[in-house]
Amino acid sequence: MAKKDKQKDTLLQAPKGMRDILPEEYHFYQNFFEKAEEIANYYGFQPIQTPHLEKIDLFTAAVGEATDIVEKQMYTLKTRGGDRLVLRPEGTAPVLRTYLKHGMYTWPQPVMLWYKGSFFRHENPQAGRFREFQSFGLEILGEENSIADATIIKVATTILEELGLTQYIVHINSIGDKECRGVYRKELSNYYRRKINHLCKDCRRRLKENPLRLLDCKEESCQELKKEAPQMINFLCPNCKIHFKEVLEILDTLNIPYLLDHYLVRGLDYYSRTVFEVYSVSSDVNGKKEREKEEKIEMPENSFLTTGFALLGGGRYDYLSKILSNKDVPAVGVGMGAERIIMALTEKNLLRHKSRAPKVFFIQIGALAKRKSLLLTEMFRKAGIPLAQSVTKDSFKSQLKIAARLGASLILILGQKEALEETVIARDLGLGGQDIVPFSKIVEFVKNKLKEKKHG
Ligand SMILES: [Zn+2]
Ligand SMILES: [Zn+2]
Repeated sequence: MAKKDKQKDTLLQAPKGMRDILPEEYHFYQNFFEKAEEIANYYGFQPIQTPHLEKIDLFTAAVGEATDIVEKQMYTLKTRGGDRLVLRPEGTAPVLRTYLKHGMYTWPQPVMLWYKGSFFRHENPQAGRFREFQSFGLEILGEENSIADATIIKVATTILEELGLTQYIVHINSIGDKECRGVYRKELSNYYRRKINHLCKDCRRRLKENPLRLLDCKEESCQELKKEAPQMINFLCPNCKIHFKEVLEILDTLNIPYLLDHYLVRGLDYYSRTVFEVYSVSSDVNGKKEREKEEKIEMPENSFLTTGFALLGGGRYDYLSKILSNKDVPAVGVGMGAERIIMALTEKNLLRHKSRAPKVFFIQIGALAKRKSLLLTEMFRKAGIPLAQSVTKDSFKSQLKIAARLGASLILILGQKEALEETVIARDLGLGGQDIVPFSKIVEFVKNKLKEKKHG
């Protein structure tokens, strides 16, 4: 390739880890978000939108200085005015910021919100993980009762089920509160300090900052050590124990399958008590080993039937509000990854979207017909009948070709003669036959034709 061509070639590429979503795939996203919104609305969640850019301090304070997100993964920028901003890496901190900023604690509690959109993390792209990714999130703010934790899990898994992902498992753990986590932290740090020579470089540093994060390490040697590490469940204080027990009891009542995952901590500092992740379950036992090999990932322990990445994850974050304000706001939430869910649907051959291709194709030939066609299009739009057409193609043949590709079953033809006489030729591609219909009757005629086809 010549040098210039090469330059042009790279010119057309989206930035690493970011992607173009073409019409067909867009419909899959649309289907996911529509389903999620519909179910969230039904359960009483309300929509909220926060900016794509936030001040960097929000995340360093909320997510934690020593987390991967803040240390390595944020897209930061300095504005001309000197502000330090970041492309939002997650949705919970911005939603809570909005809740506090707009005094939503004065509203009837709890406040239940949903959000959707793009998030950004500068990490190595791999299957199901992109630098720009889309999420649907749910938050229940101002409620400490365990029913809120269970509601979040219930609504999120219902969305999966409605999309067709009926086989899943909830990995769940309690990481305690300020009452009891300190003791566990100490125990964990004692355990790991004895093994310090076997720890990876990152974990040696993490050991000083937050020993809980060692449990998240993907390094093989650290994974090995985790197997013997102390478990939080043995250190929970009575209140945390009751809370966790209640959450599990509600999941039992709702028949939601779960697995106690004693080392699940999630890589953010703000969580307390309940943390969870949901994995798609494969009926294929061998599938796990193959995927591990293919994608060089290790699947969560005790869950040999699950695919390699969490479709959604979340937890309780009762202390986050105190970091951002002096208000006490117990809260719990979940984030659902659109790319991962669409990937899981693809794997299970469950990907579908409502057919949005119109059944009626409108062919126009000649300048006068093209002009008058706009009148007719508007009549059909008002009547709620979807119409496909190709305004730029002139020949009958090329327009007919497009109609065939779209699978139209009825074509309307407006030629020079028809345009003068204000009539339309309606040709039925399914049943055969054609009619000449005046402009004034055409909408009614098409309506009846479509009804006939639906019943026939
Ligand atoms: Zn490690
Ligand atoms: Zn506790």
